[in-house]
Amino acid sequence: MLPPYEGGCACRSIRYRCTAEPIHQLVCNCRDCQRASGSGFAAVVFVPTDGVTFSGAAPKLYTVMSDTGHPMQRGFCSTCGSPVLIKKPERPYLTLLQAATLDDPGLFQPTIEIFTSRAPPWTRSLHDLPRLPDGPGPAFVAVIEDYFRGRTT
Ligand SMILES: [Zn+2]
Ligand SMILES: [Zn+2]
Repeated sequence: MLPPYEGGCACRSIRYRCTAEPIHQLVCNCRDCQRASGSGFAAVVFVPTDGVTFSGAAPKLYTVMSDTGHPMQRGFCSTCGSPVLIKKPERPYLTLLQAATLDDPGLFQPTIEIFTSRAPPWTRSLHDLPRLPDGPGPAFVAVIEDYFRGRTT
């Protein structure tokens, strides 16, 4: 993952540019990452705070206790809700970027997965699912239409 790389939230209120190589690139399965991402895990890039510059709106921060009992500040866009960053108050020199906010998320190359004991079973079998490369398609929509057939509201 060669610098510089850029990213931001979904509505582009928050933008960042990083000129440092990542320190770690990982997938985290902790319950907090699950809740904050709305999914089974988070993809996270550890960068030095002095290597990343934020512009635009200030991320809204809230503090939670991590699964290891350390406070973590989670930063998200107060307009669109995208989780953008994580800060550890005891390590101000470190900034964790949510990899999905990268303009090119394909740059992310995770090398480790943490808190795998918390991973929900369904994330282990994702690669066994039927694959539709370009979206849900008519058969998927037909299931919804069949379910609601006859209803007027
Ligand atoms: Zn936003
Ligand atoms: Zn986590």
